[in-house]
Amino acid sequence: MKIDVLTLFPEMFSGIFSCSIIKRAVDDNIMSIDYHNIRDFSLDKHKRVDDYPFGGGQGMVMKPQPIFRAIESVKSDNAKVIYMSPKGRVFNQAIANELSKEEHIVILCGHYEGIDHRIIDNYVDDVISIGDYVLTGGEIPAMVLIDSVGRLLPGVLSSEESFIEESHYEGLLEHPQYTRPRIFNGIEVPEVLISGNHKKIEEWKKTEALKLTMKVRPDIIKKLKLKE
Ligand code: SAM
Repeated sequence: MKIDVLTLFPEMFSGIFSCSIIKRAVDDNIMSIDYHNIRDFSLDKHKRVDDYPFGGGQGMVMKPQPIFRAIESVKSDNAKVIYMSPKGRVFNQAIANELSKEEHIVILCGHYEGIDHRIIDNYVDDVISIGDYVLTGGEIPAMVLIDSVGRLLPGVLSSEESFIEESHYEGLLEHPQYTRPRIFNGIEVPEVLISGNHKKIEEWKKTEALKLTMKVRPDIIKKLKLKE
């Protein structure tokens, strides 16, 4: 998968993907991530990228010209252009799965009060929010999207790290996890997990996943029931 990120702050990405699983995926050529500074595409002699909103209002709006040029410079025939925005559809595991099938994703990060709407209406394929709250810029949302999509690409996770049993993959939250020591501060791990009885362990995992989901995310159970 090829990912191009259009941002006013490419430096924000330097730490996050220079370690761990996504770095490994890039090193193994499973995915590529390139960052492009939208300011470099401004034809304004002062390299301005924002201006006052028409009709008045708070803050500044990102101008269409530099964004349009930035998109044009990276876009391929099969590219999907995604704008990160609190006004988009709310990101979840199903959308991450859907995006993991794409060959080329262009992620547009807004700043200030957002971007000129003509870009969204004419040059963007999808608008995605990472939740119902407002962040300063689209960079953290872009990181969330890249990380969650990247780990789904074939070959990125080893079988031990597999996402199949993880929260949200099949709808439910994942069952509780334990590791050594068996007794920590006098607290024991559930007996069944050290029983060696694989059938019972599988049953326990399913029940605990269901119990946890019912307790903290009853909305997920409701949605699953509606799908049935
Ligand atoms: N004025 C906008 C509004 O009320 O919808 C918010 C602009 S926000 C301060 C600046 C930029 O941060 C947005 O253009 C978007 O790219 C990004 N952003 C903020 N919150 C986000 C969220 N929940 N999901 C995705 N992107 C977000």
